[in-house]
Amino acid sequence: MLSCGNVAIMLNEYMLIALREAEAAAGVGDVPVGAVIVKDGQVIAAAHNTREKDGNAVRHAEITAIERACAALGDWRLDGCDMYVTLEPCMMCAGAVSQARLRRLYFGAYDRERGYVASNPVDGFDVEYYCGIMEKECAAVLDEFFERVRQRRVNNFKQYNTKRRKSNGKKVCIPFQRR
Ligand SMILES: [Zn+2]
Repeated sequence: MLSCGNVAIMLNEYMLIALREAEAAAGVGDVPVGAVIVKDGQVIAAAHNTREKDGNAVRHAEITAIERACAALGDWRLDGCDMYVTLEPCMMCAGAVSQARLRRLYFGAYDRERGYVASNPVDGFDVEYYCGIMEKECAAVLDEFFERVRQRRVNNFKQYNTKRRKSNGKKVCIPFQRR
């Protein structure tokens, strides 16, 4: 059941689509995670994380992809379907993957802290999974995103400090008015 295997070249094609989805998420300020669902060699759903964009805590790539796949097939059971996701699923998404009865799960980067498939395995997760598919590329998208966020914070702090310095000595005084 626990199969962390070698990267097969044919899997990269689907993971690349998931990566493109992840990049779309980063473009609008969401943590770049993308997911696709494949049945019989056809991509039937693709999605990315839209938590910030939609202001919705459950809008993870995997959840949206599962919703789209269910809509495409007209069934909540995703028998014979495989998911490719750029980051190891969180507790919520691991649960959803299991509930949807996906056949296999392939993920790219590990999430050692919040991943609940390989990093922090939980009882009851019964989907066959493979990890580390294009791991470097999937992790790089995340690293770049968080580096940009960090850099923006640093720049905002610098701007704030500059404004504070410039405003020194320019205190706004409300003049006393005689009646
Ligand atoms: Zn999730």
